[in-house]
Amino acid sequence: MALDSKIPNGPVADKWTNYKDHINLVNPANKRNLDIIVVGTGLAGGSAAATLAELGYNVKAFCFQDSPRRAHSIAAQGGINAAKNYKGDGDSVYRLFYDTVKGGDYRAREANVYRLAEVSANIIDQCVAQGVPLAREYGGLLDNRSFGGTLVSRTFYAQGQTGQQLLLGAYSAMNRQIGRGKVKMYNRHEMLDLVIVDGKARGIIARNLITGEIERHSAHAVVIGSGGYGNVFFLSTNAMGSNATAAWKIHKKGAFFANPCYTQIHPTCIPVSGDHQSKLTLMSESLRNDGRIWVPAKLEDAKAIREGKKKATDLAESERDYFLERRYPAFGNLVPRDVASRAAKERCDAGFGVNKTGEAVYLDFAAAIKRYGTEEAYVKGLDANDVALVTKLGTAIVKSKYGNLFQMYLKIVDEDPYVTPMMIYPAVHYTMGGTWVDYNLMTTIPGCFSIGESNFSDHGANRLGASALMQGLADGYFVLPYTIGDYLAPDIKMGEISTDLPEFVEAEKNVKDQIERFINNKGTHSVDYFHKKLGKIMWDKVGMARNAKGLSEAIEEIAALREEFYKDVKVPGSANEFNQELEKATRVADFLELGELFAKDALHRNESCGGHFREEYQTEEGEALRDDENFAYVAAWEYKGKPSDAVLHKEALNYENIKLVQRSYK
Ligand SMILES: Cc1cc2nc3c(=O)[nH]c(=O)nc-3n(C[C@H](O)[C@H](O)[C@H](O)COP(=O)(O)OP(=O)(O)OC[C@H]3O[C@@H](n4cnc5c(N)ncnc54)[C@H](O)[C@@H]3O)c2cc1C
Repeated sequence: MALDSKIPNGPVADKWTNYKDHINLVNPANKRNLDIIVVGTGLAGGSAAATLAELGYNVKAFCFQDSPRRAHSIAAQGGINAAKNYKGDGDSVYRLFYDTVKGGDYRAREANVYRLAEVSANIIDQCVAQGVPLAREYGGLLDNRSFGGTLVSRTFYAQGQTGQQLLLGAYSAMNRQIGRGKVKMYNRHEMLDLVIVDGKARGIIARNLITGEIERHSAHAVVIGSGGYGNVFFLSTNAMGSNATAAWKIHKKGAFFANPCYTQIHPTCIPVSGDHQSKLTLMSESLRNDGRIWVPAKLEDAKAIREGKKKATDLAESERDYFLERRYPAFGNLVPRDVASRAAKERCDAGFGVNKTGEAVYLDFAAAIKRYGTEEAYVKGLDANDVALVTKLGTAIVKSKYGNLFQMYLKIVDEDPYVTPMMIYPAVHYTMGGTWVDYNLMTTIPGCFSIGESNFSDHGANRLGASALMQGLADGYFVLPYTIGDYLAPDIKMGEISTDLPEFVEAEKNVKDQIERFINNKGTHSVDYFHKKLGKIMWDKVGMARNAKGLSEAIEEIAALREEFYKDVKVPGSANEFNQELEKATRVADFLELGELFAKDALHRNESCGGHFREEYQTEEGEALRDDENFAYVAAWEYKGKPSDAVLHKEALNYENIKLVQRSYK
């Protein structure tokens, strides 16, 4: 099957406008005849469900949590980008487009990224209209801060709780539609398969997680907004429930899976503390606006700190190595995440790590506290040479910007980050890969759309901070509502789709068989036992630095682990009750397949780009070395029975507006 990305003709800046002017529309009365299933009510699914219902479609929305408010989106901390140029610092739609394409190491589709930059400003207006309390400056205007990979301040935020506030906005918009009966909300329901009738997506099979009942739901189109698959690594900053099942199930039914190996490792997370940990915690990138990252300049100091003989605050400025500022003077601590993560790993691998495991660097706010405190002392006409006063004033400012993050750190690590530098280390955070979609956000299955983190997204090989919220809300509020109408226009007279069709019967049977298999398996190990093993293979051999040998081993090890899982997994309880072990089993079964495809994709991509770092392909200075001649394409994998048989399709990436050069942030 040939991949058709359906990118409209014309100059990149006009594509979206021209597209909207010429697509099929569904008149308001006919929208009432059309049903749409939305799987996922995070920022992508929630905004889509609310908008589609507002337009008049009948929406059935699904989430596995007890409320849409608990979608993983709520955890987003730092902010959301938009090309508003409120700071007057030179921002524009083109610059956001450019930064995003460059940040993704030139592995994103230009037309989609331009559209994303174009609608970014609308998102902020929409959210403000909903009452989302984005941070404001003293004069009342919306405030901005900077995120990595850019030289402007374009990130809108709500302290360190941006995702929470945006989700409450989307959720209230959706709730209005639930109240009107236009959205039927299915909480605690998990989609376990897609139903295809005559080649088109026409429904899903879902499990009621409270009663265990298997249900059939039909619709004229199905939208997947099920989030990312970072939990294939077991430990990640994602919510523990985040999983790939919806995306993987549509993949097995014909949706190509694109760039699975593009994973983001976030540089500022609280380091792993031990084997029994099940979750990692992010310290938002916004902290890099004011925090300076360093390790001791001398190995003996690093050793003394690890042994508890010295403290960070014992080291003078000259004894510290601010390695990002040293290596990347132009962007300093605000280099993109892939660059910052690798630089931290490089220092720790060289023996400069500062915690017991040797896998941590410092994120230090002393300079920011002093800078803010001095300024505040001047503003208030107080003594700017009074160190205690300046520290007090500066601490208050830092607290007002990042207070909840500092509190989280204190609670987890039991050290006060206002006094002692935070310790941080890279951790799995976001997946740029996902189901392949065309310009309409439709997968290779007609009528099956994918939005937000679950699609292969607009971020190429690396996501710049504050761009996921932008993409999820762009997809849900502003893009899908147009493109889905174009697709649905021919279906206006089709009428309701029966769930008695043989395709529903068969899909339901397959789901029931899988569940029975797990319940009846008399194995000896818990689901987590296998998930942890998978995570270890992924982190060790498919993680921050990959090579051909390790990837080949990982492929074999994952396939063997999958076999062992089916033979030896133990799922207590029954199918007809609330059974979280069973939920985990179906999710881990999918991770065990996805992990193998992930490694296969990483092995085939003989280059380094963004978050995909192959040790064999690096510059003398250790930077990612792309091969544009051979790899400037999206790798879209077609399922053929098992991950090892997956067939590769290539979508060539044509850069007509941005010149392909090796990235530099110096
Ligand atoms: C700690 C953290 C902080 C972050 N901070 C930022 C930030 O500051 N700025 C930024 O831009 N990005 C940030 N990100 C990334 C961003 O939060 C996510 O990419 C984004 O929220 C994903 O939204 P989503 O709607 O695609 O998916 P989610 O919010 O993950 O929602 C998934 C939805 O799908 C449902 N679902 C999944 N599978 C099924 C199934 N089988 N059946 C039924 N329902 C299902 C879930 O119930 C849920 O409703 C952060 C990520 C993390 C981990």
